[in-house]
Amino acid sequence: MPSDIREQVRLGRHLRADDHLRWQNILSEQGWLAANWPTEHGGPGWGPVQRHIFDEECAAAHAPTVVPFGVNMVAPVIMKFGSIEQQQHYLPRILNNQDWWCQGYSEPGAGSDLAGLSTRAVRDGDHYIVNGQKTWTTLGQHANMMFCLVRTDPHAKKQAGISFC
Ligand SMILES: Cc1cc2nc3c(=O)[nH]c(=O)nc-3n(C[C@H](O)[C@H](O)[C@H](O)COP(=O)(O)OP(=O)(O)OC[C@H]3O[C@@H](n4cnc5c(N)ncnc54)[C@H](O)[C@@H]3O)c2cc1C
Repeated sequence: MPSDIREQVRLGRHLRADDHLRWQNILSEQGWLAANWPTEHGGPGWGPVQRHIFDEECAAAHAPTVVPFGVNMVAPVIMKFGSIEQQQHYLPRILNNQDWWCQGYSEPGAGSDLAGLSTRAVRDGDHYIVNGQKTWTTLGQHANMMFCLVRTDPHAKKQAGISFC
């Protein structure tokens, strides 16, 4: 691990995007970026004890936390519900840090009451046209990809009609 990154984490300082990517590229080359992924998707295939040891060693070494939105949040969804094409396209791009994901749930009018979200997605052929506003998007300024919650059925009760896209 680069000593300058270790020192910034030890001192509790914010990391720049480049710092996150430098460390995640090192982990990626080692095959350890996605500690919770199975081997069939490029992960180390670790069990809970191995993952815990890895987390403990990273903490002891003042290693940055891996940005979670791609590796830990959207990737398991793509593995479980994605088509083979989606898996083959998105998962390698997460593993080699080509894509930086962020999470678009909260809105100015929908935080704790997320069911109050109003960002709309309207189908247009093979695509959805999304209109709305998201807020509080952690590290969104560095991201090129977002997974978000959108309203696809405005007539359903507010807790329904919401899609993950
Ligand atoms: C550091 C940080 C990072 C974040 N990153 C992301 C992100 O990456 N992506 C994303 O989508 N969102 C993100 N969020 C937003 C987070 O999910 C919202 O802040 C959270 O859901 C609360 O919503 P709010 O801030 O609108 O507060 P509000 O929902 O307006 O709540 C304000 C206060 O009212 C209380 N309250 C709300 N409803 C009720 C109720 N029914 N009864 C009693 N009390 C109530 C709450 O507990 C709170 O104390 C982030 C937030 C923070 C602070």
